[in-house]
Amino acid sequence: VAKRRRSHGWQVYVEGSMELGRELAVLGEELGQAVTAGEMRVAYQPIVALSSGDLAGVEALARWHHPTRGIVPPATFIPLAEETGHIHEIGSWVLEQALVQVKQWQDRLPPERGMYLSVNVSALQLERPAFADEVIELIERVGYNPARLVLEVTESALVNEAAALSHLTELRKRGIRVAIDDFGTGYSSLRYLSRLPVDILKIDRSFVAELNGDPAGAAVAEAVIRLGQILQLHTVAEGIEQPAQATELTMLGCDNAQGYHFAEPLAVDAMDALVNRASAEWPSLPEAPARVS
Ligand code: C2E
Ligand code: MG
Ligand code: MG
Ligand code: MG
Repeated sequence: VAKRRRSHGWQVYVEGSMELGRELAVLGEELGQAVTAGEMRVAYQPIVALSSGDLAGVEALARWHHPTRGIVPPATFIPLAEETGHIHEIGSWVLEQALVQVKQWQDRLPPERGMYLSVNVSALQLERPAFADEVIELIERVGYNPARLVLEVTESALVNEAAALSHLTELRKRGIRVAIDDFGTGYSSLRYLSRLPVDILKIDRSFVAELNGDPAGAAVAEAVIRLGQILQLHTVAEGIEQPAQATELTMLGCDNAQGYHFAEPLAVDAMDALVNRASAEWPSLPEAPARVS
């Protein structure tokens, strides 16, 4: 019986993977039209300042609303976009959308209350010679304040990648900040970290998940926060789901945090309402500008 089951399982596996391959090929082709067909959206996940609880910024997260399959998650379509080369088009579309949208939200908030935009950038985008120029051209066209833009890259996109390093160095000269996403999960090259063109460490959510009141569980998160303090880098924790995790990160001195405990990635309408509320709740300073909307 065990043998039969195994061979049956194998058959299913082979057929399944062929089907999966075909399906991915179709999906990859459809991805090429997704932007022009208006199927891409950007969701915005609030990033909260732990010391005050204020909205500090948002991370832009791409969403593909497929006409028949429903929402295809980025974990599926981003790798596919990288394989097919559509990542360049999708990446610049997300950046432009988000810059225009977040600028509108910034304009509703008092300047000192501001908010920043954090956008994921694929390693492949950083290989393109024109990347930095295109980003600069885009923020100028949109009239976006570069000091309020963060580009999120992974460790592996930076280490020994000359093109990526020169793009990010150039962009940082314009005031754009760079974050290392999912920090701690890549090749933790502490040797290079102090010399990398980065400003922010994003603590991967797998380390946040270990924050359960047990000191051993806090070890990695605490180490990253201390490292950030020593190297004068901001720290942002990802994937906060429990109130106790937010408390613990605050005590450890982490700067900002995001996660379902605060808010899920939100569609434009929902984020819009949140910005209006943040604007309304802003202490009634006499010089607070009038609210739009
Ligand atoms: P990421 O950059 O690390 O983004 C954070 C991911 O964690 C998002 O998944 C977000 O929805 C999820 N998340 C947020 N809070 C929580 C929480 O409390 N618990 C859990 N379990 N998850 C939480 P999402 O939106 O599915 O994106 C997955 C990844 O896809 C992103 O990981 C990012 O690497 C990539 N991605 C998304 N949008 C883009 C894009 O426009 N360009 C590129 N290059 N990559 C993107
Ligand atoms: Mg990210
Ligand atoms: Mg990422
Ligand atoms: Mg991450």
